[in-house]
Amino acid sequence: MPDYIVMLGAPGAGKGTQAARIAEKVALPHISSGDIFRENLKNETVLGKKAADYMNRGELVPDDLTIEMIADRLSRPDCANGAILDGFPRTPAQAEALDGMLQKLGGEVVVVPYIKVPEEELISRLSGRIVCKECGATFHKKFKPFESCPYGKCEGEYLYQREDDKVETVTNRIKVYLENTAPLIAYYQDKGVLQEVDGDQAIDDVLASLIAVLPQQE
Ligand code: AMP
Repeated sequence: MPDYIVMLGAPGAGKGTQAARIAEKVALPHISSGDIFRENLKNETVLGKKAADYMNRGELVPDDLTIEMIADRLSRPDCANGAILDGFPRTPAQAEALDGMLQKLGGEVVVVPYIKVPEEELISRLSGRIVCKECGATFHKKFKPFESCPYGKCEGEYLYQREDDKVETVTNRIKVYLENTAPLIAYYQDKGVLQEVDGDQAIDDVLASLIAVLPQQE
């Protein structure tokens, strides 16, 4: 049965970084709704144009657009054994839609690691984040300065700050998270799949804590 892992946590909690590392470890695709939206934005697709204003304000893209995009992505062959979901679901309606999609695909959410980080730490992490335009790797002005491209693709001059990582927008994204996404903690707790992990530790220690809550590999 395909296994789906949903990464939960506020913006800046480290979901993207950790999801990429877990995906490698368990050999499942890493599906980041934010990355798919950014790709659409860059390629100026119809979806990208519809999502742009919401993203730049730090608001959520409407559920119908987001759900359709993820349903399409999960129906592709590389997700036949499951996937690591990062940034989706982000509202109770999206979580319910995901349950419906997975039922059709014959799979289920097996674990929801919830990476918990104090709010002051989130603001400092997000407002210092820098991203490479070429390869998508993330760095941090203070905590993880650019040294070399992990994929051997680019140089430091491709680094930029995401529009939605500017301080005013960061505060709004955290507010949006608390209002819309935080209720999913209880949703998955009720289903018995939530696993809280301390995200306020070194990156490798967070990864080790996450691996400890994943289903055992055969
Ligand atoms: P992220 O990279 O996950 O922080 O996402 C960047 C932006 O994309 C968010 O601030 C939203 O505008 C949009 N987005 C990503 N995932 C979702 C989602 N599941 N529902 C609605 N909007 C989303």
